[in-house]
Amino acid sequence: MTSSSTAGDLAEGVTEVAVPIPALVYPQIQVIDENKVFSYAGSVLLILLKGLTCVSRNTVNDYLQKVDLLSAGLNYHLISVFGSQSTGKSTLLNALFGTKFDVMDESKRRQTTKGIWMSRAKQDKILVMDVEGTDGRERGEDQDFERKAALFALATSEVLIVNIWEHQVGLYQGANMGLLKTVFEVNLSLFSSPNKSLLLFVIRDHIGVTPLENLAATLTADLERIWESLIKPDPLSNSKITNFFSLQFTALPHKILQPEPFRKAVDGLGHRFDSKDHEHYVFEKSYHRNVPADGWSIYAQNVWTQIELNKDLDLPTQQVLVARFRCEEIAGLAWERFENDVKPVEGMSGLVAGLGDIMGPARQVALEIYDAQASRYTRTVYEEKRQELLAKIDAKLAHIYGHYISTLHKIAIQKFNTSVTSELGRPNYIFLDSIQAAKSETLDAFVAAATEAQVEGALLPFESELQSLTSDIEESVSRLRALEAKKLGSRITRRLTSDLDDIYPRIYKNPNEDFWDRIVLTFREVLDKNLAIYKVEKDDVVTYDLGLGGTVAEVAAEIDQIKMEAWKALYRKMKEFSKPENVLIRLREHFEERFKYDDNGVPRVWKPADDISDIYSESLKSAMRLLPLYATARLENGDTVFPDPDVVPALQRDEEIEIEKFPILLSESQMLPIRNDLKRIADSMYVDAKRSTIQSIRQ
Ligand code: GDP
Ligand code: MG
Repeated sequence: MTSSSTAGDLAEGVTEVAVPIPALVYPQIQVIDENKVFSYAGSVLLILLKGLTCVSRNTVNDYLQKVDLLSAGLNYHLISVFGSQSTGKSTLLNALFGTKFDVMDESKRRQTTKGIWMSRAKQDKILVMDVEGTDGRERGEDQDFERKAALFALATSEVLIVNIWEHQVGLYQGANMGLLKTVFEVNLSLFSSPNKSLLLFVIRDHIGVTPLENLAATLTADLERIWESLIKPDPLSNSKITNFFSLQFTALPHKILQPEPFRKAVDGLGHRFDSKDHEHYVFEKSYHRNVPADGWSIYAQNVWTQIELNKDLDLPTQQVLVARFRCEEIAGLAWERFENDVKPVEGMSGLVAGLGDIMGPARQVALEIYDAQASRYTRTVYEEKRQELLAKIDAKLAHIYGHYISTLHKIAIQKFNTSVTSELGRPNYIFLDSIQAAKSETLDAFVAAATEAQVEGALLPFESELQSLTSDIEESVSRLRALEAKKLGSRITRRLTSDLDDIYPRIYKNPNEDFWDRIVLTFREVLDKNLAIYKVEKDDVVTYDLGLGGTVAEVAAEIDQIKMEAWKALYRKMKEFSKPENVLIRLREHFEERFKYDDNGVPRVWKPADDISDIYSESLKSAMRLLPLYATARLENGDTVFPDPDVVPALQRDEEIEIEKFPILLSESQMLPIRNDLKRIADSMYVDAKRSTIQSIRQ
């Protein structure tokens, strides 16, 4: 649109403005109202001061969201305007930035801009703050707001536009200079502020008689004089104004009298804000307050509160506070997302397939969320909070993972047991091979599943679980080995028993003084023969290998077990042969052999001359002499037969055997009836013999 204004229009007070309507008009927001209250909702600030976290929902944030700058990070700019009241500040901003700040209604001529307003500019990612003018009629003598607004603008803005009438230039005592003095003073109070700002002087209603350079020189001289006059803290006593401010000057024609030149000049000025290669490009990196857009409202609120409380405004501290608050808030969001992502696998019973594919990305995404926003804040704070977040995430991962591998462990041991049972169920299995196969299969599967669920970067150890699984398997193997050894033991005992069955009856039949020596010797020979195949002799040391693996101690215990079983088998045999009825049979046979047969084994036919009584008593005596041999297992040297010391403990635990009575096969009370019975039998044979001689005499 071009200007259609004419001098005539102006003369009649028609103020049709020929400024092009910007393509995009953003709304505005009052950041600080006329009662000096910051525009926020809720108790965010108080909470911030207490160091607690809370989601920072407030109107400034909402505004930034609305104008699409909330996630701009550090990629945005902030400009404020300063100047006396009704000097066309709002008009200038609207023309320059396409904003819609209120402009004074010509007919009323009353102050319009109250407090501090903010709007997004049409230029790329620029925010503009319109600050209430000073020396206002409304506010009278109150310099308080002016000071506070200056401080606030300095603490937040990169560029301060100072709006000034041309005719005020050089009026050192004028309102403008008072304002600048205020700006400089408050800047000094920002003692640790590292930031420089740009003061862009816009000289309004420039007639053109005095060239801009001259006006600029006058202003510069005035500024320096003001700077000189300030009482500065010691370290800054020799400082120059240019240490803190860069200066730019521009002039604009009268907007109403020269609308077209005004528009052109404003357009030209606009380029300083959006073309980086402009010789007077206004934004320099060092001007930026380094507060990411999503932390700006908290920063601004905090700064304003400090200003309101007349506290020292230490900007780096404020930045750290904001960083802490925001980083915690962002970490909270990241954590929420993480928790949500891992929820499906948390506390799941049974095995979670593809756990690593859930946990890894969950951790990754959470960190990405955090890094994307928080990395723009103060490095140390960002890193500290990241560590905290990471520790929390990894603790949770470790918890989930711990649950997972302990489930894995349980399943693995079950699998091992079934697989080993089926291996050992095969014909002709080799115990050690079967065990080894099942064991390595189980452990390999565990390690594979545990490794699969690992998350890169997180410390998720499974070694101790693996160790405990291994020892559980070993325990299982020990049990299986004991069973196997028992099986082997009973096989050996069976063989031993049948060997004893071959030999014993012959020895038993003809007991004499070394009869037990022979039995024990035979027993040992048979046992040795049966164990010999397992014997390993090395460097004169005898050990055994049952082919079942196990430690030396375990094998020794198994051998002792086998020996114990063997001794038990011997004991059973001894008991069986010395049963009273068996012994009675043996004694009766012995008696009969001597009484009924002569020394040549020929049956006696009793003749009257025979001394039956003598033969009877000799035979009975001889039979009776055998009874103690059967009753107590005693060696020729007088010692009783007793198991080897190494098997005694095991036998002591055995319920079948009363170890102290091992050699006692018949008690006194058991022997008595045997004697009586034998006597009775012998007596009846004697009577029969007597009777047969009497009969032969009669014949
Ligand atoms: P602010 O109080 O500084 O924000 O001033 P406003 O933008 O509200 O404008 C105050 C008055 O000055 C209005 O009536 C405008 O029409 C008028 N005005 C705006 N620009 C100019 C200008 O360039 N020269 C003169 N003389 N008046 C202007
Ligand atoms: Mg205004």
